[in-house]
Amino acid sequence: MVISYKCPGCGAALSYKEGTDVLKCEYCDTEVSIKALKEIEEEKSQNSQEEFHAEREKVVREDAVENFKAFHCESCGAEIMTDDHTAATFCGFCGNPALVEERLVGEKRPAILIPFKINKQQAIEKYRSWTKQGILTPREFSSTQILEKVTGMYVPYWLYDYDANVSMGAHGTKVNVTRKGDTEYIYTRHYDIQRNITAEFNKVPQDASEKMVDSVMEQIEPFDYKEITPFEMPYLSGFFAEKYNYTGEQLKPQVEERVSKFATDMARGTINGYSSVNVTYANTNLAEIDMVYAMLPVWMLNYTYKGKNYLLTMNGQTGKMVGKLPISPLRAFVAWGISSIVLFIILLVIGGML
Ligand SMILES: [Zn+2]
Ligand SMILES: [Zn+2]
Repeated sequence: MVISYKCPGCGAALSYKEGTDVLKCEYCDTEVSIKALKEIEEEKSQNSQEEFHAEREKVVREDAVENFKAFHCESCGAEIMTDDHTAATFCGFCGNPALVEERLVGEKRPAILIPFKINKQQAIEKYRSWTKQGILTPREFSSTQILEKVTGMYVPYWLYDYDANVSMGAHGTKVNVTRKGDTEYIYTRHYDIQRNITAEFNKVPQDASEKMVDSVMEQIEPFDYKEITPFEMPYLSGFFAEKYNYTGEQLKPQVEERVSKFATDMARGTINGYSSVNVTYANTNLAEIDMVYAMLPVWMLNYTYKGKNYLLTMNGQTGKMVGKLPISPLRAFVAWGISSIVLFIILLVIGGML
């Protein structure tokens, strides 16, 4: 089933208003709080608990066999095609926000979310001023037509809490050299070093989407965890969202590797002041405390320039940007020309002085 939140004033679809806890109608400016929508939802679901379970079972079975699935838009009745992982999207015909409910319930329901704080207009302005910094960026890139294509997306994440314990042993030396006459005396003292370190890691993020490039997602971190709220579906209205491709269990090995390495480095960092250190053993024990499914906000701008694809990504909460700007060959040539002329003039001046 597809959900769209309808405006009580005019019947148009409501979208989440960034940085607030309300949904807003673009046409008549009516605002409805997420709390109110939740109450309506709960009433509805109590009435149709049985129906809902039957529906869900059917969908789970269908999910297993099909990669693509069509839903009917609640507003215009057109078919909305989605791939396997789309949780929030838009109707291709009427543009209304549509949430695919069965991809957001049960174990697919995120526990927490950070709402968008940067709205589309602010995102466009940030992209524009960023592209203007690059002297060699093709001018068309900062055109409104291109920047309008920026899309807001909730990316699925798993956040992990770990307690880490590292016991580390090392052999250290301190070397002193003294000289008496022609003789050099080298004193080496040997140390048996032991460390036992306990550290707490909170909400280590790992993106659970196949499409998103891990290195890019790591670069737009950190997110400000102070603004985490319990997940409610209306927050997704007006954005794209995916459900996770990888379960929290599947991603655990790579997260634990990261946490272990970090903890081991911390322990090693406490051994200082020796001439040489040779780590003889390091045992790291991790205890998983918690693992939660979260959705985090990201603005994305996809741009093809001369056959090459560029992706500019922005943290939807903090505005931090990551990506490489394309370079216009013409502008690069002009820039090269200007610097050559400057160099030529300098050479002439120097030449004249000689
Ligand atoms: Zn309205
Ligand atoms: Zn529609």
